[in-house]
Amino acid sequence: MAALLGAVDSAWLSQLAAEGGASAASELRSAASALQQSLNSPEVASVLDARLSLLPSSQRNAFCVPSNKALPQTDTSLQASPDADCVYLVGNSLGLQPRRTRELISEELDNWANLGVNGHFCGKRPWLPIDENVISKSAAVVGALPSEVAVMNSLTVNLHLLLVSFYRPQGKRNRIMYEAAAFGSDFFAFESQARVHGLDPKEVLLPLKPREGEETLRTEDVVAAIEAAGDTLCTLCFGTIQYYTGQLFDVAPITAAAQKVGGKALWDCAHAAGNIDLKLHDWGVDGACWCSYKYLNSGPGGIGGFFVHERHHGKDLPLLAGWWGQKQASRFDMGHEWQPEADASAWRLSNPPVLQTVALMASLEVFARTSMSELRGRSMLLTAYLELLVLELAGEGGLSVITPSDPKSRGCQLSLKFPSERLCLETFEGLERRGVVVDHRKPNVIRVAPAPLYNNFSDVQRFAKALAESMQEAKGEPAAKKAKS
Ligand SMILES: *Cc1c(COP(=O)(O)O)cnc(C)c1O
Repeated sequence: MAALLGAVDSAWLSQLAAEGGASAASELRSAASALQQSLNSPEVASVLDARLSLLPSSQRNAFCVPSNKALPQTDTSLQASPDADCVYLVGNSLGLQPRRTRELISEELDNWANLGVNGHFCGKRPWLPIDENVISKSAAVVGALPSEVAVMNSLTVNLHLLLVSFYRPQGKRNRIMYEAAAFGSDFFAFESQARVHGLDPKEVLLPLKPREGEETLRTEDVVAAIEAAGDTLCTLCFGTIQYYTGQLFDVAPITAAAQKVGGKALWDCAHAAGNIDLKLHDWGVDGACWCSYKYLNSGPGGIGGFFVHERHHGKDLPLLAGWWGQKQASRFDMGHEWQPEADASAWRLSNPPVLQTVALMASLEVFARTSMSELRGRSMLLTAYLELLVLELAGEGGLSVITPSDPKSRGCQLSLKFPSERLCLETFEGLERRGVVVDHRKPNVIRVAPAPLYNNFSDVQRFAKALAESMQEAKGEPAAKKAKS
């Protein structure tokens, strides 16, 4: 019997992840053939959902999913049921709201109303140490020791804080290596840090591009570029998962190569935290940062995450200091003698934003019901399913997937590339009318991200059906065009 129709459990999913997801696609195919249905049929999707929904990694019920009719672009005449859940595949941009979030925020609003300033010390969760409620769960999600993590600020701020400590140009060791297509905010951080040090960004920034005709970087090329940079490499900083292509880099070997030539390796985990089973500690990365509003579902503008490896603790590294990095014992003495905390807390600046922190807590409580290894296994199945269904449509429309096909080299997101900007945009609009929420990135890519925690096989199946219809419509089948106007 197909494993997916039999005894699939948490351990089975973790094992699939440990094996790099190599068998994900064949498991799906054998399940469909055992059911004597085509892979893209709603029956296959609902059987898989029924099997997997019993496991702790299936947490859709813990989240609020917008309905079809609530979305601004939906054409309800194209919907069988306007009240049904929309197909939300954009957790890479803003994760869904956990059902508990409102309650946790309300509790703190009540404490503020009822206790005023006393809320700092009393109530169920005193505010002064409120971040203690999210540190160890955050650490579990990114594969870190709790002492290596701080939850504070937002992503770009945290990236700057890391660069202050880990971009210390001296003489010819002054270069920052990054992927040429880095997220704009990250690039601006690199460029402005060079200027802060009085250096010319053109001379010190070292962007890496994929080979001619290729969409993603090869590890061997990154390592070769690091070796070529040698003692000029000061800091390497990559997005762990590239936001546009969905490529997951080989963090451990790239980090080791940068450190071997005397550089530091920083990773922006915006698209990786809550998506893949990160092992920041074991991979030996020097520093990392992430946002929590994408796969970590903490809400728009949510609080950021920050990691400094324990080997750098207590070493008096240069940092931007604030009173919250001061040892707790003397923090409120208001003296002027800097006595930093002994771990990543030394990098904290300000007292924590309570509402943002408990909003993150609501989501981390859901993550704590499962493990990142189980989630990664579930995610590899979902994305393999998405890939199989998209590839069935790829031939005719000139559609391609630019995300690596090896499950080890990607997270949950697939980036679909269209032959023209027009076809991409019109297909995107067709998806919107059908209650499918994905995102469009200029010029001709649609990003599709089945979030491991709450998306299911039916979401992916409904997406593929809507994609087929929308592409047809965009290609100008006369009947479809008419129906549209
Ligand atoms: C989402 C994202 C950002 C956004 O930065 P904020 O400081 O949170 O506004 C930056 N960089 C990357 C790589 C991202 O994916």
